[in-house]
Amino acid sequence: MASKDYYEILGVSKDASADDIKKAFRQLAKKYHPDMNKDDPSAAEKFKEVNEAYQVLGDETKRQQYDTYGSAAFDGSAPQGDYSSYSSGFGGFGGFGDIFESFFGGMGGGSSRQRRNGPERGADIETELRIEFREAAEGVKKEVKISRRETCVHCHGTGAKPGTSTKTCPTCNGTGQKRSQTGFGMFTITTCPTCGGEGTIVESPCEHCHGTGTTSQLRTISLNIPAGIDDGQIMTVSGQGHAGRKGGENGDVYIRIRVRPSRTWRREGQDLYMDIDISFAQAALGDSITVPTLTGDVKYDLPAGTQTGTTFRLRDKGIKYLRQNRNGDLYVKVNVVVPKKLTDRQKELLAEFAGMSVPQKKGKIFRK
Ligand SMILES: [Zn+2]
Ligand SMILES: [Zn+2]
Repeated sequence: MASKDYYEILGVSKDASADDIKKAFRQLAKKYHPDMNKDDPSAAEKFKEVNEAYQVLGDETKRQQYDTYGSAAFDGSAPQGDYSSYSSGFGGFGGFGDIFESFFGGMGGGSSRQRRNGPERGADIETELRIEFREAAEGVKKEVKISRRETCVHCHGTGAKPGTSTKTCPTCNGTGQKRSQTGFGMFTITTCPTCGGEGTIVESPCEHCHGTGTTSQLRTISLNIPAGIDDGQIMTVSGQGHAGRKGGENGDVYIRIRVRPSRTWRREGQDLYMDIDISFAQAALGDSITVPTLTGDVKYDLPAGTQTGTTFRLRDKGIKYLRQNRNGDLYVKVNVVVPKKLTDRQKELLAEFAGMSVPQKKGKIFRK
């Protein structure tokens, strides 16, 4: 293999300082960056050379080795991988993107790495499930239908037609990024539009997933909804979301539980509330009244002299606490209802009770 003159490539003398080498590299890297030279295919070659030269001369130890043995010392050890076209054969750098960012990232504003090269976790799925009031109180088993992206079984997620392979994206030369110069030394970094940040493109797309690597599948998830769940609470089903990519794990499924309100009770947390109308006589004399609860009707002994608006509590007749062995309470508010129509006999009795005479009919009462 022909020996390369790294000093010549960077345009510096053999005794150039580390600073001079860095400066020269930065200038040339900008000059030949593939994003700036879309119409000049030779620029990519130059760019690669410049990078290679800098990875040697920019490193004190490697520079010494090079000075002693020449570039042959470094040939033949280039790692194969997505970024091999940018790797000069040394470990330590993940590829050109790493070096480039360490130089320009801070100046360019977009220093975050947008390459999607490693495993990528699948997206989560959010959905809602409506259940009945009593189902929430007692717990219920439900099935939830979801549509999710799953790894294509034909291409195993590569997106390439079986038997074909992917190639390095020609737009970004495998970086997955598009850099646009916005001023001297300033760059904005966006995802490569050609490969969507993958760094690779598929030449013959898989016919089953149209090159996406995933297909949409309708799945049914069984859900054990625990007794006591409340409206708006979210259940998580781990690992049942969209498929990950490149070995990344699946996303999760989040199911927001919607509980239909009850006609009988109003729920606040694990406690239940309800109103019961009672008559004046029941309030005054006391009575055994029937209270509906989740576990059936119960009798409650209303004491004599109960005032309207009085609330009494039935312990443990509320809703079960999630994953606990106790319940909330049921609060019953009694309203004394004053009758609007009375029989003559009832009027007599009431008048007698009040120690007054039965009022005479006074004609119509006008109401607004
Ligand atoms: Zn496929
Ligand atoms: Zn690309």
